Amino acid sequence: MVKICCIGAGYVGGPTMAVIAVKCPAIEVVVVDISKPRIDAWNSDKLPIYEPGLDEVVKACRGKNLFFSTDVEKHVAEADIIFVSVNTPTKTRGLGAGKAADLTYWESAARMIADVSKSDKIVVEKSTVPVKTAEAIEKILTHNSKGINYQILSNPEFLAEGTAIEDLFKPDRVLIGGRETPEGRKAVQALKEVYAHWVPEENIITTNLWSAELSKLAANAFLAQRISSVNAMSALCEATGANVSEVSYAIGKDSRIGPKFLNASVGFGGSCFQKDILNLVYICECNGLPEVANYWKQVIKINDYQKSRFVNRVVSSMFNTVSGKKVAILGFAFKKDTGDTRETPAIDVCKGLLGDKAHVSIYDPEVTEDQIQRDLAMNKFDWDHPMHLQPASPSAIKQELDYQKIFDNMQKPAFIFDGRNVVDAEKLRGIGFIVYSIGKPLDAWLKDMPAIA
Ligand code: NAD
Repeated sequence: MVKICCIGAGYVGGPTMAVIAVKCPAIEVVVVDISKPRIDAWNSDKLPIYEPGLDEVVKACRGKNLFFSTDVEKHVAEADIIFVSVNTPTKTRGLGAGKAADLTYWESAARMIADVSKSDKIVVEKSTVPVKTAEAIEKILTHNSKGINYQILSNPEFLAEGTAIEDLFKPDRVLIGGRETPEGRKAVQALKEVYAHWVPEENIITTNLWSAELSKLAANAFLAQRISSVNAMSALCEATGANVSEVSYAIGKDSRIGPKFLNASVGFGGSCFQKDILNLVYICECNGLPEVANYWKQVIKINDYQKSRFVNRVVSSMFNTVSGKKVAILGFAFKKDTGDTRETPAIDVCKGLLGDKAHVSIYDPEVTEDQIQRDLAMNKFDWDHPMHLQPASPSAIKQELDYQKIFDNMQKPAFIFDGRNVVDAEKLRGIGFIVYSIGKPLDAWLKDMPAIA
C-alpha cells in the first residue's frame, strides 16, 4: 500500500488530499498540520474551510484511508510520497519584502523531513514556490542525508477556491515536473500513477522541474492580467458610454481570446494572484529583467486603481463625503462560495470608506464577525503572517433580498454600488435606486458627480 502524507491542511492540502483518498481507496492519505485547531476542525463535523462538495468527499473516506493528524513527524517518516502544501506568503520584512515569497514554512518542513526520514522519499512541491526552489530544497534534504534518496517533484495546484472539488475531480490538466534522470523519471511516473486513477493520461503533463514551477506563477499572472485588462477597459467604458459586458462578450467570442475571466469587477482578491505576481516581479528583477518586472507589476497597479476608483465613485456620488452615512456591505470574502477573506478587495473598499468616516455594516454568509474585525485591523501582507486560523464558517441561510423594503427604509437618494455586476440594475432603477455598475453607462446622477480617480 502506497502511503501519502501531506504537510499543510489548508485550502489546498485538505481538498486535494480528500480527492486523492476518495479516488484511490488503496492509498492511505494522512494530512498533517502544526495547527491543532485546524486538524481538530478537519476531524469534526464543521470543516475549517467551506467548499461546495467538500463535506461529502471527506465523509466518504475519513477514518478509512483519509486521516488528519498533528503527529507530523510520525506520518512523514512512514510516507512514500510527501506533499508539501504549506503557506508561502509574501515576505513582510528583510530582503525582497513586499514582493518575494516567504519560504520559512517550506524550509522548516524540508528540514523536518530530512530529520525524521529513514527511507527513500518522493517530496512533492504542492505549494506555489519561486522557480528554482526545488534546487534549494534538494540541498536541505541531502545535506545530512544518511544515505536516503530524495526525489523532488513540482506538482503545482491549479484549483480555484469555490470550485475546488469540481476542479480536482476534472482538472484541465495535472502538471508534474521532475529531474531528467532515471530516478527522476521513476518518481514522476509514481506520482502520475496516483492521478491516473481518475485523470485521463492526456491531461497529465510532465515537464522538467523549472517549467513546472514557473508554469504556476505564469498561469496566475495570465489569469490576473485578463481581469486587470477588462477592468482597465471598464474605466474607459464609463468615460465613453460603452458597456463593458457588451465589450467583453464581443471580444470573448473571438476564439483566440475566449470568454472566460473577462468580467469587470471591483478587482481580484484571494491569497494567490497578488502574491504570485509580486513573486514573479521579484524573480524578474533578480534575473536582471526590469522591463519584464514592470510589465507584470502593472497588473497589480490596475487592480489597486480599480479598488480606489470604486471607493472614489461611492464617495463622490454621495456629495463628496460619506462621513456619518450608513453603508451596508453585502459580501466580504474575495468571491462567492468561499469564506476566504485573504486579500479580498472588500478590505480595501471598507478601509477606504471607513477612512472617510462612513458607518459601515458588513455581512457575508460565510464569514464571521471576528474574521472581518481582524482583517480590517491588519496591515498589508499581514494576512498570512503568522498562520491565520480560519474559523468554522457560519453558513447562514441565504435569503433573497427584498429591495423594495430596503429602498423604503433608506435615506433618499438611495444608492447601490455593484462591485461585481450581479444585481439587476434596471429593476432596481425601477424601484428608485441610483445604481452604479462597473463599466456600464452611468445614471444621470453619477454623470453629474464625476469620480476623481
Ligand atoms: P493555508 O494557509 O490555508 O494552509 C497552509 C497550512 O500549512 C496551514 O494550515 C499551516 O498551519 C500549515 N503549515 C505551515 N507550516 C507548517 C509546517 N512546518 N508543518 C505542518 N504544517 C504547516 O494555505 P493554502 O491556501 O492551502 O495554500 C498553500 C499553498 O498552495 C500556497 O503556496 C499557495 O500559494 C498554494 N495554492 C493555493 C491555492 C488557493 O486557492 N488557496 C491554489 C493553488 C495553490
